[in-house]
Amino acid sequence: MVPSRQDQADVAEMATEEVYRALGTSPSGLTQEEAAERLAVHGPNTISPISRRRLVSRLLSNFVHVMAILLWVGGAVAFLADLPQLGVAIWVVNVVNGIFSFWQEFKAEKATEALLRLLPSTATVLREAVLEQVDATALVPGDVVFIEEGDRISADGRLVEHVALRVDQSTLTGESRLVRKASDPVDTAGRSRLELPNLVFAGTTVGSGRGKLVVTSTGAGTELGGIAALTGSLADTPSPLQRELRRVSLTVSIVAIGVGVVFFILALALGGLPLATGFVFTLGMIVAFVPEGLLPTVTLALAMGTQRMAARNALVRKLSAVETLGCTTVICTDKTGTLTQNEMTVRSALVGGRRYEFEGVGYQPEGRIHPGPDDGLVTLLATAARASNARLVHNDGDTGRLTVVGDPTEGAILTAAMKAGIDLDVLSSDAPRVAEWPFDPVRKRMSSVARMGGELVVATKGAPAELLERCSSLHSADGTLALEVDDRKGIIQAVNAAAAEGLRVLGVARRVIDHLPDEREDFEIDLEFIGLVAMHDPPRPEVEAAIASCRSAGIRIVMITGDYGITAEAIGRRIGMVGEGQVRVVNGDEMDAIDDAALGAILDDEVIFARVTPSHKMRVVAALQDRGAVVAVTGDGVNDAPALKLADIGVAMGQSGTDVAREAADIILLDDNFASIVAAIEEGRAVYDNIKKFTTYILTSNVPEAVPFVVFAFSGGRIPLALGVMHILAIDLGTDLAPALALGAEPPEPGVMDRPPRSLDARLIDRPLLARAYLLLGPVQALFVMIAFFGAYRLQGVEDWSNLASSGTIYLAATAMALAGVVTTQIGNLFAQRSARVSLRRIGLGGNRLLWWGILSEVVVILLIVYLPPLQRVIGTAPFPPIGWAWLLLGVPLLPLADEIRKALTAHRGRAR
Ligand code: ATP
Repeated sequence: MVPSRQDQADVAEMATEEVYRALGTSPSGLTQEEAAERLAVHGPNTISPISRRRLVSRLLSNFVHVMAILLWVGGAVAFLADLPQLGVAIWVVNVVNGIFSFWQEFKAEKATEALLRLLPSTATVLREAVLEQVDATALVPGDVVFIEEGDRISADGRLVEHVALRVDQSTLTGESRLVRKASDPVDTAGRSRLELPNLVFAGTTVGSGRGKLVVTSTGAGTELGGIAALTGSLADTPSPLQRELRRVSLTVSIVAIGVGVVFFILALALGGLPLATGFVFTLGMIVAFVPEGLLPTVTLALAMGTQRMAARNALVRKLSAVETLGCTTVICTDKTGTLTQNEMTVRSALVGGRRYEFEGVGYQPEGRIHPGPDDGLVTLLATAARASNARLVHNDGDTGRLTVVGDPTEGAILTAAMKAGIDLDVLSSDAPRVAEWPFDPVRKRMSSVARMGGELVVATKGAPAELLERCSSLHSADGTLALEVDDRKGIIQAVNAAAAEGLRVLGVARRVIDHLPDEREDFEIDLEFIGLVAMHDPPRPEVEAAIASCRSAGIRIVMITGDYGITAEAIGRRIGMVGEGQVRVVNGDEMDAIDDAALGAILDDEVIFARVTPSHKMRVVAALQDRGAVVAVTGDGVNDAPALKLADIGVAMGQSGTDVAREAADIILLDDNFASIVAAIEEGRAVYDNIKKFTTYILTSNVPEAVPFVVFAFSGGRIPLALGVMHILAIDLGTDLAPALALGAEPPEPGVMDRPPRSLDARLIDRPLLARAYLLLGPVQALFVMIAFFGAYRLQGVEDWSNLASSGTIYLAATAMALAGVVTTQIGNLFAQRSARVSLRRIGLGGNRLLWWGILSEVVVILLIVYLPPLQRVIGTAPFPPIGWAWLLLGVPLLPLADEIRKALTAHRGRAR
């Protein structure tokens, strides 16, 4: 039987055995069949996010923004001016555009959702007495679940065990203080469920400690499910780029209207145009300049960027991160696991002045120890193993090789203990653990208490220098000795020597106590120092190249590690992060002693921060930001969350990180690898470039769209209109659309990582972009189009075009040729846009299949417009002599050629400077 939500308060009052019984389960968990049956009854443990109403309202919102309203009004005015065909066309365009935008947004959102599924949230569950990781959606009431520091709790449940458990319930209560939780039965009278210390809730996170719970409800039945049903899901706030584009669209619209109106008045005054013609003219100007498809295309380009980043192991959680990544100027990275592989192997140990060397790599207990293990070494490794929580398990599928579950540092210790002949099972059965103080990055150590015979023995391992301060005696073959100043010096020298080789060194100590200390008592004092273990953690092979690429990209790297300064420096040199020269290593203690100004000054030079805690990390990020840096910072623990939030780009680890860190981050590295951050930055730069590319592409064709109106107006209507409003719409929402999208999928161009980061304040539509589109490419294109228009008359045997009525077939064929001229030149423009800097000769034509699909769509659409009678009628075209195509093809290389000259000149000027 599974209790209803109302009955769950009663569960809080029950003793542990009753809890199991009430939820139809046992201390060894549900059976697999039982779990499957319950899943069928209760459904998956999820809360459905998108409500139908939201979809409808979002569809509608695509028809009521400024530009849409402008087009609605334009259409209505066309009706009033007795131009019904134009009115209908404008409205149809508006509807099509709205649906298209909605589709793009929807697709972008689906893409993001699909990404999040790449990193499923899992839960550690006991079923049939076997511990397994299951997808959180598969949890059912009655499941026995283990939680630990940093976990996001996936279902509501009643605690049955706890070790120093504190939970962050702010998602439900809004209060960010950690709440103490315990498994004992409580009196529920007069207290809300959220106040009960033995209940935990889905969506909350474990701040510290560990616990075991029995699931009481899942999915919509949870407290979180209740709230989600009330509020719906959170709206995604628009990214800075999206906001800028909204602003740009608005400005452009206003300018377009202003220009239209001014030209209207001028045209009437100068050219003596009739009112209706003047009106069509104004509408044409406005329609030509308003960038109808820009915003949704940008959203889709950002979403496509997230997919390319995911392919390179960086999962983007917020769309805005895609653009910020491109602006990153500093990466603050931790060392272990990000720069290194986090595959630890003990290389040497030191006990009582004797040094032992270990053979072998990885977690396989193969390899000899020189000299062979003796009592001293066994005491050292057994004590270190007692102070460990990791386990070595056989990796199924792999031929019985051992892998580590838990902290690799501890895995290495267990392997070393096995190499020394210690049986780990006997070790834990002979001396059962009665208490533990888990590792935490602030204390930099971990302790456990085991009952050995009649004694309680504390085993501690941790950062050597800090541990040594808590030791008062020294273990030796002749018994316990006093720890003299010289001994301390000798030990620190040994630590430094190993650290200089890039090894990670841990100290091991122990103490016999007479009573079990409570949580607040400091019992890690008066310890007996046993010795040191030094382990190797090889750098990741890709990191060196990634660091070199950061160098050329003007991105600074600052290592912020909890590890020892000398180790950090050695690793830093090995991976090329630190050059030949001096590097300043600043320890956490030193940081505590200086103020923010001094910290800022330190940051001017090459620096490594070592032996720091997460709060130090936050200070470094803040100091860098004060100096104008755009900072990406990595983190994995619960305490890293504030720094991840503060950073411009918070980067969490997908494999070793906690759920808390992941939720605070903007991107998650699926492979925990530093090189993936650099790959993401490269993609981020590319996405921004691509958005510029298609914006330039779209803006270019504004010029040939506008010029005919100007010529028409200033000739007082004597020179016929080469392109009408319908033609402009056919370009903006027909032929230009697919190619623009294709430009959004361009791969990073050569040299993206050879230029400095973009400034966060840089405008998307800046002067160089406008100049390129409106002063170079656009005018060349317009010239070609006007020649095509006049040429069409020639081809049709007309010498004196000025007297032709604007509706005859000859005129329609001429406009068709002008329109086709825009298309052929835009095909060339597509290639010119592949880079604003690099010569097309270097980039070539390949690498983006979508470009060719874009061109195909352009060609098909223009052929349909020229040759399909219904479209001829609606848009106003007629076929021109086929020889016209031969001439139009000359337009293809025109814009790339013009742009090549510009690129060459710019490069030349750059070199000269
Ligand atoms: P990074 O911050 O670059 O990931 P790190 O893993 O060395 O490096 P922390 O995890 O904060 O950083 O560890 C800090 C120090 O605490 C380590 O250098 C080591 O001396 C000690 N330490 C690490 N893991 C354990 C452990 N499981 N038990 C005891 N001490 C540990």
